[in-house]
Amino acid sequence: MNAVSDIIIVGGGIIGLALALELRAHGANVTVLCRDFKEAAAHAAAGMLAPQAEAIPPGAMLDLCLGSRSLYPEWIEKLETITGIGTGYWRCGILAPVYVRLTSPEAPPLPSKEGTWLDKDGIAQFQPGLNSEVIGGWWYPEDAQVDNRALVQALWAAALQLGVNVREGVAVESIEQQHQKITGVSTSLGVLSSEHYVLATGAWSNQLLPVPVYPKKGQMLSVQVPSHQTQLPLQRVLFGEEIYIVPRQDGRIVLGATKEEVGFTPDNTPYGIQKLLAAAIRLYPELQHFPIQEFWWGFRPTTPDEMPILGSSAYDNLTFATGHYRNGILLAPITAKLVADWIWQQKSHPLLSYFHYSRFAGI
Ligand SMILES: Cc1cc2nc3c(=O)[nH]c(=O)nc-3n(C[C@H](O)[C@H](O)[C@H](O)COP(=O)(O)OP(=O)(O)OC[C@H]3O[C@@H](n4cnc5c(N)ncnc54)[C@H](O)[C@@H]3O)c2cc1C
Repeated sequence: MNAVSDIIIVGGGIIGLALALELRAHGANVTVLCRDFKEAAAHAAAGMLAPQAEAIPPGAMLDLCLGSRSLYPEWIEKLETITGIGTGYWRCGILAPVYVRLTSPEAPPLPSKEGTWLDKDGIAQFQPGLNSEVIGGWWYPEDAQVDNRALVQALWAAALQLGVNVREGVAVESIEQQHQKITGVSTSLGVLSSEHYVLATGAWSNQLLPVPVYPKKGQMLSVQVPSHQTQLPLQRVLFGEEIYIVPRQDGRIVLGATKEEVGFTPDNTPYGIQKLLAAAIRLYPELQHFPIQEFWWGFRPTTPDEMPILGSSAYDNLTFATGHYRNGILLAPITAKLVADWIWQQKSHPLLSYFHYSRFAGI
């Protein structure tokens, strides 16, 4: 058996890499085993940092998301300084247009923490070009975005630079255990062992241990602002009722996403793409003329309550960092911080208790 480091992290997506860096900063020797970097949902995401636009109800999940959003500027600055790789972090705000008010005509718009309601004229002035059926919308100036593909490249580069032992193309086939202790992981390279293990395998987590995490597929596409347009027509994310439109600073515009329970069925479908295009063109009609750039899909790691599974497990030396569903890009910095503090210093932040796997007892 091969002892490779203090800690083996299984999974080299955004959560595994962010955690590896945080543990490394504490002084740990860390190995990341990643079956396939490209299959990570981290590459497929839209990169919205949107606790408010996502309308997450008040409670531990919203606190976790807001906490992570506030860690982002410093986290990104550190990463960009280490690697010299730009991550496209952009505090552009998110505008959530609505077509029909769900309350009675006399009632004020639904209350929203820190959001500002813009009426029909207000929103038309603030964001020209929206469908005339839009009756108003919420403006969330604190919500932001990051270019998630650039971000995971930067995390990967930083991990290599700072001495994390990153093994791409190494699949963990099973986790060996004895008396509530993990004794090693069986891989394509043989059995590897360490003091502590982390399960950070996203949507694939229950292929290794019985955790309630399953894939929810999302299809996406991107268009490009035509080259003759010298100014970006969109300067903020549009978070519509069935579509989001995420303009990058380089002129790419990301459109997403479907939510499908089809297991790990790959590929884009005409139905999925047609739905996205119809909703996007309805919300922002000018898009119909923009050249299409790319189609792709990915698998969100979903749990029954749509909240992540973080912290200790039924095994003395294995920690969970999985199940981030549609907010894993947003939640990477806080997950890394809280889980690393737990593993390395046994410091348990009060928030962690809300994300413990035991809430699913009996499932
Ligand atoms: C279409 C779509 C849009 C999204 N948009 C957003 C968004 O706007 N904002 C946001 O915050 N989040 C978004 N998300 C969610 C976000 O992408 C995920 O929550 C996040 O990527 C989860 O990170 P992870 O590291 O847990 O898993 P992943 O990023 O999926 O990485 C898991 C890694 O583990 C590896 N692995 C799996 N099994 C094994 C094994 N047995 N051995 C070794 N390695 C293994 C895989 O190869 C993979 O590289 C979106 C997701 C999708 C699919």
